[in-house]
Formats: sequence, C-alpha cells, structure tokens
Amino acid sequence: MEHLVDRVERRLGTPAQVEGFFYTHSTSNISAGPTESTYTRLESMLDKLDAELKLAEEIRAVDEDDVAERVLNTHFIRDLQGNLNAFSKQKFRCTKCNQSHRRMPLAGKCIKCGGNIIPTVHEGSVKKYLVMSQDICKKYEVSEYTRQRVEVLIMSIESTFGTEKDQQMGLADFMS
Ligand SMILES: [Zn+2]
Repeated sequence: MEHLVDRVERRLGTPAQVEGFFYTHSTSNISAGPTESTYTRLESMLDKLDAELKLAEEIRAVDEDDVAERVLNTHFIRDLQGNLNAFSKQKFRCTKCNQSHRRMPLAGKCIKCGGNIIPTVHEGSVKKYLVMSQDICKKYEVSEYTRQRVEVLIMSIESTFGTEKDQQMGLADFMS
C-alpha cells in the first residue's frame, strides 16, 4: 500500500522535486492565516486546558488520556512541585522599605522600619493547579505512576498548608 502514498523522498533527483505538489486549500495570500490563536484568546489556564482536552476528545486520531497525562507530567506536576519548593525557600519582604528577610522576624514586623512583612511566594500560587490536576486524574485514564505523583504532591501541600477543615477549627470544636 505504501506505493500509493506520494512522498517527497521518491521525487528527489527529478524535476518533480520542486513542482507539481498541488495543495488542498486555495488562498490569495500565502501568508494569510489566523492573526490570533485560540491559546492567546482564552485567558485562564483552565479555559485553555478545557479547550485542549475537548479537542483531543473530538479528534479520533488523538488519545485524550495521553494528552491528559502529558499535560500533568510536563506542566502541572512541575509547576506544583516547583512552587512548593519555592514556598519553603522563600524570602519575606517589607511592604514599607522593601527590605528582604531570610525568615519571618520573630517580632512579626520589619526589623529595620517596623513595616508589614509579606511572603514573596503565596499559598495561592502553590495551589494554583492543584484542583485542575485532581480533576484530570479523575476524568482521564492517566497512568498509576502519574496519579500517585499527584497524590504525593497533594499530601505534601496539605502538610505545608493544612487541609481546609483544619484551618477552620475553632475553640468551640473541642467543647462538645
Ligand atoms: Zn521595612
């Protein structure tokens, strides 16, 4: 069946190597095309991801589970891991004089000017892709290895920030 497919390889060394290729779509300008891609039009990462996976599901030649696995391995897991590392190694910054502190001063304020101290890496930026990663693991057939990598990351993040339930405990929770 291979001889039925026209390949450039077999045209090499003949005049046909530079002519007679034809085309599938007519155009008045070879440079014509989309001036703005869907990737730049969609604003949030969630929208971009949804669009990518939806397309993968619609195209029969694309394995959407494989796409989901690749997105996790090349993008989300690295991002979560990187931000978690950055969070534990971060410096603290004074909002008033911009002095950077290696750790949060015990006084709870800037030791130079008494200004407010804020973290440079925020909880939100560490957790940014957490829910999305969990959702992908639930919805698609990703490998056990990748699934467990996400689970381990979730455990590390929970041990750093606590679970939502832990944070909302009050004195009254212990009095019943
Ligand atoms: Zn200061």
